[in-house]
Amino acid sequence: MAPPFVTFSRNVFIPLTNVCRNRCGYCGFRRDMGHPEAKLLSQAEVTNILERGARAGCSEALFTFGERPEEVAGFMPLLEGLGYDSIIDYLVELCKLSIDIGLLPHSNPGILEKKELERLKPYNASMGLMLETVGIVDAHEGCTGKVPEKRIKTIVTAGELGVPFTTGILVGIGETWEDRVRSIRAIRDVHEESGNIQEVIIQNFIPKPGSKMASRHAPGIREMIKTVSMARQNLPEDVAIQVSPNLVHPKELVSCGANDLGGISPETIDYINPKSPWPDIRKLQDMVDIPLRERLPIYPQYVKKKWYSKEIAPLIRELSDAEGFRKTY
Ligand code: SF4
Repeated sequence: MAPPFVTFSRNVFIPLTNVCRNRCGYCGFRRDMGHPEAKLLSQAEVTNILERGARAGCSEALFTFGERPEEVAGFMPLLEGLGYDSIIDYLVELCKLSIDIGLLPHSNPGILEKKELERLKPYNASMGLMLETVGIVDAHEGCTGKVPEKRIKTIVTAGELGVPFTTGILVGIGETWEDRVRSIRAIRDVHEESGNIQEVIIQNFIPKPGSKMASRHAPGIREMIKTVSMARQNLPEDVAIQVSPNLVHPKELVSCGANDLGGISPETIDYINPKSPWPDIRKLQDMVDIPLRERLPIYPQYVKKKWYSKEIAPLIRELSDAEGFRKTY
C-alpha cells in the first residue's frame, strides 16, 4: 500500500577518504595507497563542502568513507600530517565543524566498537552502516569488515546506545533470496529489541567499471519490487524503506511500500555511484505520485522523542518543525 507521503533529506556527501581495508567485488570507490586518486580530505576541503551545503539549504552532512583506513599501509602518514592518529578522532572534529556551520552530521565509518560509537554519538544526529547481506558472498571474500556478525554487532550496539540508525541491504551482489529475507529479519529483530532503526535502504547493485563485478547484471525493476514488498511485509511500520532515485526509478517501488528517497544533494555527487547523478530536487516530486516531505537526517519520531545530545539540540531545534520534519521557511 502506498504511504501518505514520501520523505527525503537535502545533504552534502563528504567522501573523507577512499582508502579502505576491504576490497568488495562491486566497489568502484576504493583506491589503493599510491594510486593518484587515493586521498584524505583536509579540513579546508571539508569546510568548503560544508559551506556550499549550508548555502544550498542542506541540513545534513553525510560522512561516508573507507573502513578503518589506518590498517592500510601508507595511510597513517597522511592522517598524521593532518595532526591525527585516528580517523575517528578526525571525524569527531569534522562533525563539530559541521554543527558549527549548520549541518547535522550523519556518519557511516564502517563497523565500530562501542567506545567509538560513544565518541561519535554526541556529534551525530544519526549514524549508519549497511548490513548489506547476512549471506556469505564471493564479493566479500577477504573483506575483514564484511563478516555479517560483526556488522550486526555494530548495529546492535548502536541500538543499546540509543543512536537513531540507518542500515540496509544490497540487492544483486550474489546473495540468494533467502539471504535477503534473513537480512531484513535480522534488522527487524534489532529494531524490536532497541527501537533505533529509522530506515532500511534497499539498494540495487550497479556494476562499476574496473571492479571485479563490472560485467555482472544489475537487478531489474521486478526484482526490486519483489524485494521492497518483502521488506515492507517484514519490517515494522515505523521503519522507513528507502530507495535511491539516482539508481532506480522510485514510482513503482513507492506503490509497494518504499517511503523515503534518501539524501539528495544539490551540491555533491554520489561518490559511491558517480555515474548515477541525483535527480534535480525541484523535479523530485515528478518522480512519485504522492506528496514529498523534507526531513532531517534524524527521523521525526526521534526528534520528538529527543534522541539526540545536548551538543546538537540547538541545531535540531533550529532546523525542525513541530512534527519533527525539516522546517520550511
Ligand atoms: S564498498 Fe565500502 S567497504 Fe567495500 S571496498 Fe568499497 S569503500 Fe571499502
